[in-house]
Amino acid sequence: MQCRESDEELLIQFLRTKTVRCPKCGYNLRDLASGRCPECGTELELELRGRGDRVRRRILMITTIAALLLMFLFQFLVLLEPVKPPMPPMGP
Ligand SMILES: [Zn+2]
Repeated sequence: MQCRESDEELLIQFLRTKTVRCPKCGYNLRDLASGRCPECGTELELELRGRGDRVRRRILMITTIAALLLMFLFQFLVLLEPVKPPMPPMGP
């Protein structure tokens, strides 16, 4: 459990100078005294992430929502399309 303790120590040091919100409840974690959110009890850990990850995730989410909206709109238009009358018989 040595590693776990030092991780918690690093987290507490990090939050001493930063205003960061709890990922679960949004509580301000500045000057946190333990590795848990005092508001909701979520266990917290420090994590390194690539800078572009958040932007990429947002773009993926927007694209997915746009695709779903387009599919919905397309289905709606297909349902609204008036039924064409049958072609009159071609006679002489
Ligand atoms: Zn929380």
